[in-house]
Amino acid sequence: MALRKILNVRESALHKTCKCVTNFDDRLHRLLDDMKETLADAGGVGLAAPQVGILRRVVLVDNGEEVLELVNPELVETSGEQEGPEGCLSLPGKYGLVKRPMYAKVRAQDRNGNWFETDGEELTARCFCHELDHLDGIVYTEVMERFLTDEELEAD
Ligand code: ZN
Repeated sequence: MALRKILNVRESALHKTCKCVTNFDDRLHRLLDDMKETLADAGGVGLAAPQVGILRRVVLVDNGEEVLELVNPELVETSGEQEGPEGCLSLPGKYGLVKRPMYAKVRAQDRNGNWFETDGEELTARCFCHELDHLDGIVYTEVMERFLTDEELEAD
């Protein structure tokens, strides 16, 4: 495994639509392993392949119990609403106020191409939405209401 460089939001890779994964091979497995190490090193809850410069539909989401590997993920169900602070490893030190569903269910393939469903609430639902947006070139700053001020962040 190896750490990959997390790209800054200024890089063009963060603003492109990613392609579906069609080969569930060693290269994909290496990408997933590297992303997992990179996510753990950065102390984040989610990471999308374009953040490490790979324009493929691959994300990781730490749901608090395990790090989910989601290949070609799609949102199949959402409900409710939450509004809260959201950050991104590609935009260090900044947080925005973002509305997301309170619950989200995702259908995805695992590293061997098998389809499965997973779901979550609160931070996990937020993370699903945030990471899947990355696959369509969308950064949270494009859907947020506004950046949070330092005073607001300190109050949390
Ligand atoms: Zn992000």
